[in-house]
Amino acid sequence: MEFNTALLHKGFNGEKVFGSTLTPIYQVSAFSHSSAEQLEKVFNNRAPGYAYSRIGNPTVTSFENRIASIENGVGAVACSSGMAAVTMALLNILESGDEVIASTGLFGGTIDLFGDLEPFGIVTRYVNKVTAEEIEPLINEKTKAVFAELIGNPGLEIADLDAVSELVHSHGVPLIIDSTTATPYLIQPFEHGADIVVHSSSKYINGGGNSISGIIVDSGNFEWNTERYKGLAEYKKFGRLAYVAKLRNGIWRNIGCCLAPFNAFMNSVGLETLGLRMERLCYNALELAKFFETQDGIEVNYPALEASPYYSLCQKLLKGKGGAILTIRAGSKERAFKLINNLKYATNATNIGDTRTLVIHPSSTIYAHGTEEQKRNAGVFDDTIRISVGIEDIEDLKSDFKQAVDSINVNESEE
Ligand SMILES: *Cc1c(COP(=O)(O)O)cnc(C)c1O
Repeated sequence: MEFNTALLHKGFNGEKVFGSTLTPIYQVSAFSHSSAEQLEKVFNNRAPGYAYSRIGNPTVTSFENRIASIENGVGAVACSSGMAAVTMALLNILESGDEVIASTGLFGGTIDLFGDLEPFGIVTRYVNKVTAEEIEPLINEKTKAVFAELIGNPGLEIADLDAVSELVHSHGVPLIIDSTTATPYLIQPFEHGADIVVHSSSKYINGGGNSISGIIVDSGNFEWNTERYKGLAEYKKFGRLAYVAKLRNGIWRNIGCCLAPFNAFMNSVGLETLGLRMERLCYNALELAKFFETQDGIEVNYPALEASPYYSLCQKLLKGKGGAILTIRAGSKERAFKLINNLKYATNATNIGDTRTLVIHPSSTIYAHGTEEQKRNAGVFDDTIRISVGIEDIEDLKSDFKQAVDSINVNESEE
């Protein structure tokens, strides 16, 4: 099955009762059962079925199954947000005293999260580039996970997955990849050795900017050494599903960061057009990036440009497509603000993966909590603008950015 067909048919074959073409929204908190005996079985995982929507809901299951099959994983667990997915993916295997290795180029919220985990005794060590060379010296017996974004948001550095996964596996450590910005359209990270994948499905999977959500997918391939990952010992009996079984029966259900059925439904609808949207978004992003290369006073960063240091990894891992985010540097914060304010179509908002083009000044918003060093490492400068490219017609986007760039250049030559 090719990708666009799989988005419609894989892991989903309609709803059984009335033949509805999408799994309906089961907008309920609880599910009744014919007898106390039956509910006892459902509660104790001895019979299939649902008891309570924090633990499971058919609309959510349908979304989870579709994502698991698209990523070629053994199972998926949906969460109330991308941040909840990142948090749960880590806390499922971490204990006080453990260490995580992560890249400095991470999404700002994830960097903040690692800070929040410190008082719980979980220490994060950072690398500037997600390469085997940088990671190896930081691995020790306390290292329990390596965490990276496939395409860093907003730095747009690409993780060298094959080399990194080989290295971390040789130390018995799993590789957890946030693949939000790459999406399953550009890459299946499990084919390159990632063990766990998380998505903020609020972004490209939903695609319309209408629901916050996240999802964790397990490849089922990692060999959990239960001496090292003691919490997984009692789940070993689930075989390749051990990690997912632990999540579902442990911290994920008890923290209660379940996905709402309505949002799961919106994501399943969005997922079906992921391939079409990404094709268009990657085309628009490359066209726009090439356009910025011709503009005075603007520096552009996009991994599919030949000038990018990540060009060859982009060819190797992402079929030469660079995703739908690019960043530009306008020369100063003042110029960046003016440029944003002069845009007509591109909307000033903190999101990515919407149908419409969104722009933001990261340094004063999503990275406002970061130290100067954190900002620099994440490619966030005072004059950086992040552009989340939408599906608008490219000529309209180019002319919108052209008039905004001209307006700041003209102002300057007058001053
Ligand atoms: C947005 C984002 C998150 C957080 O997701 P939410 O759904 O906003 O909680 C995590 N990682 C990346 C790469 C993101 O872009």
